[in-house]
Amino acid sequence: MLLEVKDLSLSLKREGKYSKILDQISFKIDKGETVGIVGESGCGKSMTALSLMRLLPDKARLEGTVELEGEKINDFSKRKLQKSRGNQMSMIFQNPLTSLNPLQTVGRQIEESLILHTNMSKRERRARVIQLLDEVGLPRADELIDEYPHQLSGGMRQRIMIAIAMACAPQLLICDEPTTALDVTIQAQILELMNKIKEETQMGIIMITHDMGVVAEVCDRVIVMYAGRVVEEAPVVELFENPKHPYTRGLLNSIPKLGKRKLQLGSIPGTVPTPENMPKGCRFADRCEHAMDICKTTSPQMTQIKENHQTACWLYDEGGNKNGTTRSEKPETALHH
Ligand code: SF4
Repeated sequence: MLLEVKDLSLSLKREGKYSKILDQISFKIDKGETVGIVGESGCGKSMTALSLMRLLPDKARLEGTVELEGEKINDFSKRKLQKSRGNQMSMIFQNPLTSLNPLQTVGRQIEESLILHTNMSKRERRARVIQLLDEVGLPRADELIDEYPHQLSGGMRQRIMIAIAMACAPQLLICDEPTTALDVTIQAQILELMNKIKEETQMGIIMITHDMGVVAEVCDRVIVMYAGRVVEEAPVVELFENPKHPYTRGLLNSIPKLGKRKLQLGSIPGTVPTPENMPKGCRFADRCEHAMDICKTTSPQMTQIKENHQTACWLYDEGGNKNGTTRSEKPETALHH
């Protein structure tokens, strides 16, 4: 086991009051595994990633445990944590232009992580930077090393971000919508690169995305989040073939189909409730066609419906048997369109 997250909850102070942004998130990741975290914006995907990296505002309250290779990283001191970032785990963000420093050469920005985490000489660092540029598929690495971010295309800049994240060979790489800002062809190349890196390094990857197409391309397992909670978890093929939670089915219905106009995840009617107005029962109840009385009053817990497949929905009991509902449960009709 590479990463084990147990009952992770996060509260942030807003207008003098604490609001719960994440509520008892639990999941595991093995070495060499890519796990997708999916959901609409506001579901807590990025906050989960920032909580793992502990890149949170000062007054954030974090509960639960996060273990990386058996070491409890939520007990780390600030210094140890800083060392751990880049060395044990790294993160890639959506927009490489805002993440890169426009005043520094790309070589220098990759080198910084090596200065912080290794004892390499200047010469060794330069050689490693050139090797990294090469590994992420960038041409003429020995010239590129002295260029500035604005001289590069969006796809090249994202490759630089990956090189920075890879510099110290972390065990865990967290990618937050790494291809959203890129056009489709470049997106496919970056996803291919991520797959290659995973195979070569056996690192664990968390892929945060709103795009089920990206999930299908790179993930082994998927965690579906809704309103700060995990509502379904399954291996990728199982989730696509046998989605259980009505929200997951809604997400899958939002995938563009051949010959049809591309639909965004926003095609599920309604919006994600805010932490200040969280319903008492199932958080999806207001948007769910199958909502029953119990859904409005009592929150469903994660239930094992078959090996490796869990969901939090009153429609299913242990073993995946369906509880009574009079409406259609076919994915195509699970949600209003
Ligand atoms: Fe719908 Fe009820 Fe399941 Fe929530 S628990 S997703 S409201 S059926």
